[in-house]
Amino acid sequence: MNHHEMLLLKLGEVVLKGLNRRTFEDKLVNNVRRRLRKCGSFQVYVRQSTIYVEPQRDDCDMEAALTAARQVFGIVSVVRAVPCEKTVEAIAATAREYLAGEFARARTFKVESRRADKSFPMNSIQISQAVGGDLADAFPGVAVDVHNPDLTVHVEIREKFAYVHGPALSGAGGLPVGTGGHAVSLLSGGLDSPVSSWMMARRGVQLEMVHFVSPPYTSQQAQDKVLELARLLTAYCGTMVVHIVPFTEIQEEIRRKCPEEFFTLIMRRFMMRISQAIARRAGAHALVTGESLGQVASQTMLALGVTEDVVSLPVLRPLIGMDKVEIIRIAREIGTYDTSILPYEDCCTVFTPRHPAIRPQVEDVRAAEAALDVEALVAKALEGEQWVRVKS
Ligand code: ATP
Ligand code: MG
Repeated sequence: MNHHEMLLLKLGEVVLKGLNRRTFEDKLVNNVRRRLRKCGSFQVYVRQSTIYVEPQRDDCDMEAALTAARQVFGIVSVVRAVPCEKTVEAIAATAREYLAGEFARARTFKVESRRADKSFPMNSIQISQAVGGDLADAFPGVAVDVHNPDLTVHVEIREKFAYVHGPALSGAGGLPVGTGGHAVSLLSGGLDSPVSSWMMARRGVQLEMVHFVSPPYTSQQAQDKVLELARLLTAYCGTMVVHIVPFTEIQEEIRRKCPEEFFTLIMRRFMMRISQAIARRAGAHALVTGESLGQVASQTMLALGVTEDVVSLPVLRPLIGMDKVEIIRIAREIGTYDTSILPYEDCCTVFTPRHPAIRPQVEDVRAAEAALDVEALVAKALEGEQWVRVKS
């Protein structure tokens, strides 16, 4: 075979009103390049709503590149393909060789063609018929079945070459990271917040993470677990910064000075304030949490109102209407589940009230909080903030 196997990545909904297609495509191509860097040396470029990924050397890891490409948001499907000359003979010869293994297993096949190059002299039906005829002669044991074939041979006639490929694999969908703005996501070690982060990244949002720690109540292992979750998310979100914020003093002050029924809510208000400050410094325009309506006492509608009372940035809660089973299904799919269920404590589980307020009123919580020097506590936590850049 003269040509090397390569990947064709099909773009998803990159055409948005007001945002130009070029920006989207450039962003996406850059994201693909960055994500494939660890798999070898590839040439990556875009033509006609398709990203071409061509290995430049024999030692490129195509399997790893395929996996990585399927995790890049903005791509709906991925195929491994082989380019060849734009003639029926070359296409049929390439299909015979490239798909020999598939033909050995199949009892029926069909050819499906697409003509992206409209100047090509045959239309797609004619191409399919001609290539199909050649292949039927070459594999007499495999019959043509256009309705329900075991094997579909795909042919695409493009600018420079024709491409032969088998079935398409699904991509991650969504929009290219970096096209949907910049937000700060509150990442705990639980099941929910890695999923909520992933969901916002899928809408093109570039994320920075904030994680609150309460040593000695929370352990180093709990913090490492969160960094590992962030690392797992980089396969989708790219490199990201995780801000680690000390939270012990705030929690101890709340315990000392506030009514127990409001512990969790006041603590969550501090999380929001600090996250907003970090967002402002980072030039981010929203906060993201893993809250889901009714999941726990601090996630009732009234409680959510009390929590976001202290911030003016939009609080994005992509899990708000989801059931736990759906969240768990996504966590498994994106590969964060096994890490999330490791049994390390979160600062939210330290000092949880025995009887949290059921119908919290914002005025009551504000009044309870007045016992604290909120500004000083926030400032001090921000002073103690450290950050790590997490790479894949
Ligand atoms: P998760 O599974 O994400 O931990 P949860 O169901 O346990 O969520 P809570 O513990 O009430 O719910 O937390 C709600 C949200 O607050 C989390 O989804 C996360 O966005 C944020 N959060 C909780 N704890 C922390 C923390 N230690 N650091 C950063 N954010 C946190
Ligand atoms: Mg939690």
